[in-house]
Amino acid sequence: MKAKGKKILVVEDEAVLRMALVDALEAQGYEVEEAEDGESALAQLDRDDWDLWLLDLMLPGVQGLDVLQRLRQSHPRLPVMILTARGEEYDRVRGFECGADDYVLKPFSMRELLLRLEAILRRVPNPGPAENGKLRIGQATVDFAGYCLHRQDRQFELSRREMELLKFFLAHEGQVLSRNRLLDEVWGADAFPTTRTVDTHVFKLRRKLEGDADKPQLILTVHGVGYKFVHPTPDVPQQKIDK
Ligand code: CA
Repeated sequence: MKAKGKKILVVEDEAVLRMALVDALEAQGYEVEEAEDGESALAQLDRDDWDLWLLDLMLPGVQGLDVLQRLRQSHPRLPVMILTARGEEYDRVRGFECGADDYVLKPFSMRELLLRLEAILRRVPNPGPAENGKLRIGQATVDFAGYCLHRQDRQFELSRREMELLKFFLAHEGQVLSRNRLLDEVWGADAFPTTRTVDTHVFKLRRKLEGDADKPQLILTVHGVGYKFVHPTPDVPQQKIDK
């Protein structure tokens, strides 16, 4: 069974729902762990073999979105499916901004949830080893804690902004990101940069990450709009790039 061995964490404070999710997922062959609040979910962060987190937004203590933000710092590519109550429109939008991959509205049909979860797992390419806060991207190994990357026996330091930019690209893989959105999300209110600043940082990041900044394979230019990050997996022909 293709679900076999995939490890999922269910973060949900409602015990009945949590147990129903665990049972349904286990019946599909997933390996399931559970957490009843944000703190106990975060305590399981240092495991690096998760395949997906199912995350309720309304949790006692640390809220779901805060959990997601903390998760994204160390696991930029781990698929996360959010569970949210109908009508929490604002949270859903924030959820995507924080890097959720999909969401399911409560009450949901278990069958639909399982199908959507399978779809996420299917489209996630194997990210390669992401051990100790390191992630293989193309020919580079990025060290998130050390603010640097290694490529072809060379080490490149990344500025805080370059690292934040890279994390934002990783969390929004395959999405077209406008320069203005990147400015809002990565630079925020702390400076008065222009969209030109974004281009300069992208250029520097490409040079470190990819080598040839003029022929990018990872951070693609979308003319007239901005950029799109794609992550071809090694040993597999380059994944198709949607227009
Ligand atoms: Ca809840």
